[in-house]
Amino acid sequence: MAELKIVRSGSRGPYVELLQLALTRAGFLSSEIDGVFGRLTFEALRRFQTSHGLAPDGIAGPLTWRALTPYLTGALRHTIRPGDTFYTLARSYGTTVGAIETANPGLDPGNLRVGGAVTVPLGFEVVSADVRLTPTYLEFCADGLLARYPFLRRGSAGRSVMGRDLVTLEIGEGSNQVFYNASHHANEWITSTLLLKYLEKYARAYAAGGSIFGRDAGSLYGLTTLFLMPMVNPDGVALVTEELTSGTYYTRAREISAAYPSIPFPNGWKANINGVDPNLQYPAGWTEAREIKFAQGYVSPAPRDYVGAAPLEIPESRAVYNYTRAHDFALTISYHTQGKVIYWKYDGYEPPKSYDIGVSFASVSGYELSLTPAASGNAGYKDWYIASYNRPGYTLEAGAGVSPLPLSQFPAIYADNEGILTLGLTATL
Ligand SMILES: [Zn+2]
Repeated sequence: MAELKIVRSGSRGPYVELLQLALTRAGFLSSEIDGVFGRLTFEALRRFQTSHGLAPDGIAGPLTWRALTPYLTGALRHTIRPGDTFYTLARSYGTTVGAIETANPGLDPGNLRVGGAVTVPLGFEVVSADVRLTPTYLEFCADGLLARYPFLRRGSAGRSVMGRDLVTLEIGEGSNQVFYNASHHANEWITSTLLLKYLEKYARAYAAGGSIFGRDAGSLYGLTTLFLMPMVNPDGVALVTEELTSGTYYTRAREISAAYPSIPFPNGWKANINGVDPNLQYPAGWTEAREIKFAQGYVSPAPRDYVGAAPLEIPESRAVYNYTRAHDFALTISYHTQGKVIYWKYDGYEPPKSYDIGVSFASVSGYELSLTPAASGNAGYKDWYIASYNRPGYTLEAGAGVSPLPLSQFPAIYADNEGILTLGLTATL
């Protein structure tokens, strides 16, 4: 289970957002999720505690967080009592028999054993776009998706500088391998929400025998295995989302940032926690990228645009590199914000089908298919992938505005990108 901070009246930040999300889903809070622990949150928490047999102190400590956890993951474990059926459980928990069946493939509904456990998906979607996607919330989403859709697989590509798991998730059983990653850049974490929400919608469609973006989910599942790394740079995301607000790594990041007064802190932070840009770390034109960024003044650790002392120096980029080499990806997409642009080319390479696939991505999203600007045309993941494999690799700049984009943009970003994410699954076949 993810570790949660104690929050109380006067607290602010992403843990309060999670508290408010859980209280809202549990039916105790109806005001806006704003990350500020005020009177309404306090009263809602006390009502929740009373109804769950906890001391109503209005403080979210370990026992209270444990009781709230099903409302963060969207799934709970129910101990079977005499008379329970999937139908009665669905009614009492506000879910469906089909959702319970999906979450319990090994259980025979006609033969439930009293005292045994059944996973009950609750009556809301796991992945919320009402809270910032911190590394902690990523863990809840991963736990909830795995509990509700046991055919998903979780793996790991390694660990970040601060030791956070570089979570990978897989769906599908096809021999065609496709890889989507997000949040190389810390203040672009809304792209993590995008990949997780897409995974949830796809998994739900597959479980229900339905479709996604008009394509039969079962067919996609049989043709392609989709590999996701939803958060390449979790330490940086923790900094930008204010999950990380103290300690030596935080203090050092703030010191690094102080030398760049024109870049807001922490909102302008794109780098990993040591001030190296994870998308300027790949061995494809790294020396050229170094020259360009050094000329711009990024000669040492910085909130953005510092290429590092050598390619693949930081564990986050090295993990993506090794993960890619350990697979046989036919197509990759790296999600960034912002600009509503699709970059498809690197240097002189034009991988077969790459342009045509890019045109179809542009047509389903309304985004513009474009050549990469020379100043940022090296050492990125797409660049290395294309140069190494000569296969279609894309950088997707989702949304418009100043990163971090507000969650109010999420519905539009999702609507724009569901087609790209779906077409990408079979585009090279
Ligand atoms: Zn970016």
